[in-house]
Amino acid sequence: MSRDDVESGLELDAEAMRALGYAAVDALVERYVRLPDAAPWDGRPVDRPALNLPADCPEEGAPAAEVLERALRDVLPHAARLDHPRFLAYVPSSPTWPAVIGDLLAAGFDVFQGTRLAAEGPCAVEDVVVDWFRRWIGLPEGAGGLLTSGGSAANLDAVVAAREAASAPAGGLVYVSAEAHSSMERACRVAGIGAERIRAVPCARGGAMRTGELARQLEADRRAGRRALLIGATAGTTSTGAVDDLPAVAELARQHGAWFHVDAAYGGFACLVARGRAALAGIERADSVTMDPHKWLFQPIEAGCLLMRDPSALLRAFHADPAYLRDAHEHDVLSNPADRGLQLTRSFRALKIWMSLMTFGRAAHARAIDRALDLAVEAATRVGDSERLALVTGPQLGILTFEARPDGWEALDGPARDGVQEALSRRAREEGAAFLSTTRVGGRRVLRMCILGHRTRSADVAAALAWLDRAAASWRAA
Ligand SMILES: *Cc1c(COP(=O)(O)O)cnc(C)c1O
Repeated sequence: MSRDDVESGLELDAEAMRALGYAAVDALVERYVRLPDAAPWDGRPVDRPALNLPADCPEEGAPAAEVLERALRDVLPHAARLDHPRFLAYVPSSPTWPAVIGDLLAAGFDVFQGTRLAAEGPCAVEDVVVDWFRRWIGLPEGAGGLLTSGGSAANLDAVVAAREAASAPAGGLVYVSAEAHSSMERACRVAGIGAERIRAVPCARGGAMRTGELARQLEADRRAGRRALLIGATAGTTSTGAVDDLPAVAELARQHGAWFHVDAAYGGFACLVARGRAALAGIERADSVTMDPHKWLFQPIEAGCLLMRDPSALLRAFHADPAYLRDAHEHDVLSNPADRGLQLTRSFRALKIWMSLMTFGRAAHARAIDRALDLAVEAATRVGDSERLALVTGPQLGILTFEARPDGWEALDGPARDGVQEALSRRAREEGAAFLSTTRVGGRRVLRMCILGHRTRSADVAAALAWLDRAAASWRAA
């Protein structure tokens, strides 16, 4: 028997493939249906020996059904459930089912979406999806971009593109607010822009950049002979949902000849609804915009997007022409995603987004965003009605922050007050009431509620706040 007649040992027969696939889909649907009855978090440290995860990779395999069973029982449940109706921490995501299936198909079809040559159809879909986003944001025709792994990658690509586009990038300064996402600073570090070239502009109490301070800093730097390379505004800060004054920042960027980037990673999709569009006015003046479909467009992780007013700036930053890709470059290079960003081998992220929007339509996605905004307003009202909870910021784009004030509050010092918020957040999570988080506003630790998921209902928000109210009522300092 020749070697060619021997099976690779890496295949299942068609029946076994179906059985494994059906079992996985059944488990996913079961999880989805039962999700509201589960807790939003089950991330307690697990007993590694009990999990029986072999340190040595097994030399021989085991039946696929057994391996699936172990993943479903021992591994996957031990985590936060970001799509749970009472997951209200960080930035929730709640993928639609067609989008989940889109990810499965992209993997199964083994799409390599680095070049047009290798993925004509998929590239066409990515172009269409990115163009939908462009229109929603209001960038002019001819603007474009690409899908990325997430907001951090999109911010990095933007910073590199801005650096390459600057006539004299050496020494140029980057201005972001003190509340900008940490990925902006990391992007600068990766792009060779050290801390001494980053200006963290102070924010107002709600978390928006003080544009007066930005103007003052720009002017002072100009007088000192320093140039502005990039001004990064945030449209929906991660901490409090604040949107910087985009028209004012745009104007300052224009005056100082700086690149105007808007990090709208989670907030950008609010432009699908009227009040979100109003909050984001001015975003259409950006040179680049970061948006994360895996946040407020109900897509599975990972899916980010970078929109560029002038997409050829990405080419200048990322195009390379190695001999082994020559044939792929017979096509127009601008159309190769690999020439517009860091990744060569890329998955077909656009498929899930396309399937979700084609299945449910734009309007349903917009309604889900609108409802989340309503729920945040409702949550703020409930906080205001409570004797033991006090609103601190918001609601701004689905985020509110507040303080629990148990009896004896007046007598507590700062650290003790902070400790109350941290303890309540932890207890709410551990007892399965809700997964909230805490953040810092004006030097104080506060509770933070972020409502974005499309499965969160009024009753979920009410239950979470009622739990906190009761917990504050029965609070006894340790
Ligand atoms: C989440 C977030 C990011 C980072 O995006 P990832 O997808 O987590 O990499 C950047 N900026 C803002 C404002 C965010 O909320």
